[in-house]
Amino acid sequence: MSLIVQKYGGTSVGSPERIRNVARRIAKFREKGHDIVVVVSAMSGETNRLIALAREIQQQPDPRELDVMVSTGEQVTIALLSMALKEIGIKAKSYTGAQVRVLTDSAFTKARIVSIDEGKMRADLDSGHVVVVAGFQGVDNDGNITTLGRGGSDTTGVALAAALKADECQIYTDVDGVYTTDPRIEPRARKLKSVTFEEMLEMASLGSKVLQIRSVEFAGKYKVKLRVLSSFEEEGEGTLITFEEEGQMEQPIISGIAFNRDEAKITVRGVPDKPGIAYQILGPVADANIEVDMIIQNIGEGGATDFSFTVHKNDFEKALSILKGIQPHLEAKDVMGDQSIAKVSVVGVGMRSHVGVASQMFRTLAEEGINIQMISTSEIKISVVIDEKYLELAVRVLHKAFQLESQV
Ligand code: ADP
Ligand code: ASP
Ligand code: MG
Repeated sequence: MSLIVQKYGGTSVGSPERIRNVARRIAKFREKGHDIVVVVSAMSGETNRLIALAREIQQQPDPRELDVMVSTGEQVTIALLSMALKEIGIKAKSYTGAQVRVLTDSAFTKARIVSIDEGKMRADLDSGHVVVVAGFQGVDNDGNITTLGRGGSDTTGVALAAALKADECQIYTDVDGVYTTDPRIEPRARKLKSVTFEEMLEMASLGSKVLQIRSVEFAGKYKVKLRVLSSFEEEGEGTLITFEEEGQMEQPIISGIAFNRDEAKITVRGVPDKPGIAYQILGPVADANIEVDMIIQNIGEGGATDFSFTVHKNDFEKALSILKGIQPHLEAKDVMGDQSIAKVSVVGVGMRSHVGVASQMFRTLAEEGINIQMISTSEIKISVVIDEKYLELAVRVLHKAFQLESQV
């Protein structure tokens, strides 16, 4: 008998029928004698609906009140799933994040989990209950409701599994595992039997939304056995996230391709090429709490240089107005913004021991006439910024060039 934490995403609990299906799946695990803690997301589309509703009142909704509001989505699904379980004779109890005491810091809309009190859950499990917990939400030390950032139910699932020392954390979603790239963009994407934590971390941070990055960090830190599976299929092993040493002896060079449409580029043109200029440009951006991702500075000509960087689209207007404000002080010729960019990345631990991945990536894009605007690399990934309109083409040709396609 094992203790399993199962997390079901929005599509998996998107209708009463689907909630009944989830209840039936849980019943099967109970029949096998497993103890089950379930984490659920809001019904698909609900979190977006709530955010849009808030924006009708306040263009930039107050973060504390927004969390009070968006956390209601998950409160609905925990109750519905518990009812569905009771309907088929399974003892179940629902809890909000505050009730199980998922204690977080007070960073509304992007709170971090500090601790989880597993006492109540243990008592319920001992008395034969399935425990159903609202994902994505917590409570701070002052009793304020907080949320963990979009996709945060994954993190609740993994954090509960870590706190309870569960045997496995299963993330049920609308695909049957982690693929070489998003199967919605490349139908020939191949399902991975396993992927290393390191690669999954890169893929999540570079835009693969199948797992929230914080959940992968948590699983790595607390050694949680993590698996991604489909809630729509009866059987299937899904994808296991492994520590490298457990993985295959011979790693493929590239494991996957990630992409991200959420960034925008800002270019400061014709600034004096002198020490301190990067700091003068990025200092005020950092002071406004805006995270910068990729950065490029051209070789100066005639004493002047161009400096470009990317930020999340949510921060674009703010960053642009900060730089326009200091343009005279920077002695810059121009400050320009571009929101129609995309980032494409190839990821693989095998890159460590193989050369030529970058050149193959650049050649493949060049053959399609796709211009590379920015490049960044780490030991196990290469990312490029391109025009957004070439994103899908870039993903497909790279997927083919690195022979990631399924053989069937
Ligand atoms: P949930 O609501 O269950 O949390 P998400 O929409 O957050 O589901 O995540 C699942 C989606 O992630 C898939 O439908 C798929 O389109 C997308 N996705 C992106 N990259 C990948 C990938 N490499 N492998 C599998 N799915 C991916
Ligand atoms: N409901 C939240 C969201 O849509 C959390 C989650 O689904 O993981 O982002
Ligand atoms: Mg998700």
